[in-house]
Amino acid sequence: MIVGQAGFSIQGQKSLGRIFLEYGCGQGSTCGPRGACVYTGLAMSCIFCKIVEGSIPSKAVHQDELSYAFADIDPKAPVHVLVIPREHIAALSEADESRKALLGHLMWVAAEVAREQGLGAGYRVVVNNGKNGGQAVDHLHLHVMGGRQMAWPPG
Ligand code: 5GP
Ligand code: ZN
Repeated sequence: MIVGQAGFSIQGQKSLGRIFLEYGCGQGSTCGPRGACVYTGLAMSCIFCKIVEGSIPSKAVHQDELSYAFADIDPKAPVHVLVIPREHIAALSEADESRKALLGHLMWVAAEVAREQGLGAGYRVVVNNGKNGGQAVDHLHLHVMGGRQMAWPPG
């Protein structure tokens, strides 16, 4: 979805949602101002893309031009943060070689989030990938979990 993907890579989280709300995305057949726009394409049906653009609310924890980190809606630990790329990448296995630097950046952000959240005693970073990996949301995300003793092996 050309406009969405271009927007995600260059726009701030709030500004893209505002642009779509005020002007429409320019792509859909019924596109128009103030909510008449029909989003098209995979990225626009993705809940984490909507969180990035700001049309689904979230509790921001950390953000930069490439990534957004927010509190998990159903935390499995006292601290449970999701780190996602602003760009729609469906899964770790879908990231091609051109995304190597971005993947490293996301890992660095996970460590930054852990520091900011006071997880000096330790924490876990998890990426669920695909059906057998237990991935429920098809937008790459790193779980940063801490604030309690983690068990091993995971289920
Ligand atoms: P997965 O199972 O795909 O690795 O993890 C998806 C995570 O996204 C789950 O921990 C789930 O609680 C979280 N999640 C799903 N929908 C939302 C949402 O709308 N907002 C937030 N903040 N988290 C969500
Ligand atoms: Zn997405």
